[in-house]
This record gives sequence, C-alpha cells and structure tokens, in this order.
Amino acid sequence: MGRDIFVIAEQRDGHIMKISYELLGKARALAGEDRRVAAVVMGKNIYEQAAKLAAYGADKIIVVEHPALDEYMTEPYTKAVSKIITERAPDIVLFGATAIGRDLAPRVSARIHTGLTADCTGLEMDPESGLLLMTRPAFGGNIMATIVCENHRPQMATVRPGVMQAIHTEPEKAAEIEKYAMDFEMDDRIELHQVVRPEHKAVDITEADILISGGRGVKGPEGFADMKALADALGGEVAASRACVDSGWTGKERQVGQTGKTVRPKLYIACGISGAIQHVAGMEDSEWIIAINTDERAPIFDVADLGIVGDVHQIVPMLTEALREYKVMQNVF
Ligand SMILES: Cc1cc2nc3c(=O)[nH]c(=O)nc-3n(C[C@H](O)[C@H](O)[C@H](O)COP(=O)(O)OP(=O)(O)OC[C@H]3O[C@@H](n4cnc5c(N)ncnc54)[C@H](O)[C@@H]3O)c2cc1C
Repeated sequence: MGRDIFVIAEQRDGHIMKISYELLGKARALAGEDRRVAAVVMGKNIYEQAAKLAAYGADKIIVVEHPALDEYMTEPYTKAVSKIITERAPDIVLFGATAIGRDLAPRVSARIHTGLTADCTGLEMDPESGLLLMTRPAFGGNIMATIVCENHRPQMATVRPGVMQAIHTEPEKAAEIEKYAMDFEMDDRIELHQVVRPEHKAVDITEADILISGGRGVKGPEGFADMKALADALGGEVAASRACVDSGWTGKERQVGQTGKTVRPKLYIACGISGAIQHVAGMEDSEWIIAINTDERAPIFDVADLGIVGDVHQIVPMLTEALREYKVMQNVF
C-alpha cells in the first residue's frame, strides 16, 4: 500500500475550480516531507490547465483526457477514478464536497470497497497511528465527530469548499505530469442531451473578498438594503446569520456558519450578529473582522479585530456615505 495523497481536482468548462487548489493546500500540509501529493485531473483538452496545479502543491499530476470526460458524468468519472486508485494504491484520496464530489466519491468508495467521510471541515494526521483524522459536523451540527478508517484503504474524504486554504508557494515549481490513457465504452443507458447553464449566476459568498453580514440586529429584510448599499460601496457581497435566513429576510445561499458556508474573506463586517459559536465557526478565519453591535458584551467582539458599539441602522449608512464621499474625493469609481 502506497503513502501518496491523491486529490481529485475539478474542472468546469476547462477551468480548474477553486476547491482543487484548497484540497491541494490541505494535502500538502498533511503530506509533510515524506509523502507525495498527486492531483488527478479529468476532462477534454485539459492538459495545460492541469499543469498549473504544480504551483499549488502537486508533486505529480495525472491527466486523463477523453471526450467522455468533457462534461461531468457519473459513470465515466467513477470508472477513471476507481481504476487509477486501484492501480496506484494511494493512502488518502480527497474530493471536494461539491455537487460533483458528492456524486462521485460515494460511487468510487462503493466500487473499491473503502470508507468515505463526507463533508469534512477538518483533516489531520494522527502522529501515533498515522491515520487520517477526519472531522465533520454530525447530528445537525450539534457535535463534531472525528472519524478514522482503520481497516480499508485508501482513506477517503470529501471536504467542504472554503474551509481549507490554498497555497500558492512556488510559481515556478514543476511537477511530473503523466498522461493517463484510458478507453471508455460509452454507457448507452445514459445519454447527455444538453447542458443548461443557469441564466443568473447564483451568488457565491465563498468567493467574495469583502462580506457585509447581517444578523437579527438588522431587524428585518429592509435592513438588508443598508447592507447591500455598503457592500456595493466596498465592492463586496451581502451575507447573513442563520437567524436572518430562517426568518426569510435573505436566501440560504448567503448563510455563514456551521450549517451554512465557511468563508474566509479579506474583510468581514458583522452587523447586528451576536457571535454564536455556530456562526463564528464559519467566519473566524477571515483576515479582518469588524463587528457592529449595540451590546458591548456580545461574543462577536471576542473574534473581531475592530469593534464598534452602536446601532447598525446609524453606523452602516454613515460608513456607506463616508465611503462614497471618499471615492468622489479620490476619484475612485
Ligand atoms: C445545530 C445548529 C446549527 C446552527 N448553524 C448556524 C449557522 O450556520 N449560522 C448561524 O449564523 N447560526 C447558526 N445557528 C444559530 C446560532 O446558534 C444563533 O442562533 C444565530 O447565529 C444567531 O443569529 P444572530 O447573531 O443574527 O441573532 P442573535 O443571536 O439574536 O443576535 C442579534 C445581535 O444583534 C444585536 N443587535 C440588536 N439590535 C441591534 C442594532 N440595532 N444594532 C446593532 N446590533 C444590534 C444584539 O445585541 C445581538 O447581539 C445554528 C444553531 C444550531 C443549534
């Protein structure tokens, strides 16, 4: 049994997805000095894009190019990944807990007879046993469970997007790139007729550098208009606590926290958010955190770099106005 760590990289329309870089960052940290990290990239005409992964921590890149792998389809992808894992016998395989990873990883695990820990938010190596400690929320997020796969190999996990940090250490680093040739007998039970892309790109708060996040303290959906104005002035996005999502003030896709998204923006402005542990779990790794709250004892101030004790309905519009004035003075648009 090998000691390599494999990352199943994702591409859409020939572009490597952010989750692939995040998985490589974590794989590199887990690998230390004595294990190799390999990225597996599947698609059509994907070779040049795949080569980029070297700079993000891959020692080796296995590229599988075939027309059957152009758009994601369960069967050919499962076949390719299962075959590579069976032949190369890695110790650990990481997938993104994305729509693709959530479909692919369970299929692969069943086919190669190993376990899978889904939707992990933490991965560590146990220094004593050498096992991968896979941590994920369980029982609706009320406990964190750490799971090990003792008796089967590889140890496999899907990893929640936005939790792990990509590293871009060595732009000039080269990796061994292998073109992996494979035949696919097309499964005639499944035929891809058409791929329909959404007309409006759904907001992805995990991609934003600046988030203005509203909590119950904004008092209602109209309070989100102030958040939006500040987000627009700063070139950011609006996010929210679960209390606001549950109240129907904004959409679930904007929820930050244990049962929402994990975000790591450059700036997170928490407006009227108390700082419950389930919320903080999703934003505490932001580079800069500013909290605005009327209650000076609110726990959000414990994780904030800058705290403003005051009413969001006064402070947020004042901030927006000051930014607009600043932009006019500086001629920045
Ligand atoms: C299993 C489980 C999973 C959960 N998952 C999540 C999750 O993913 N994300 C999440 O966010 N929560 C989650 N929660 C809920 C979490 O426990 C809290 O209930 C929630 O985060 C509270 O949201 P909030 O801070 O907006 O509201 P509150 O806790 O009600 O806080 C409102 C804050 O606004 C302040 N305030 C009031 N008026 C103003 C004003 N005018 N100006 C400024 N400040 C003001 C108050 O002082 C208070 O601190 C989860 C809970 C459970 C049990």
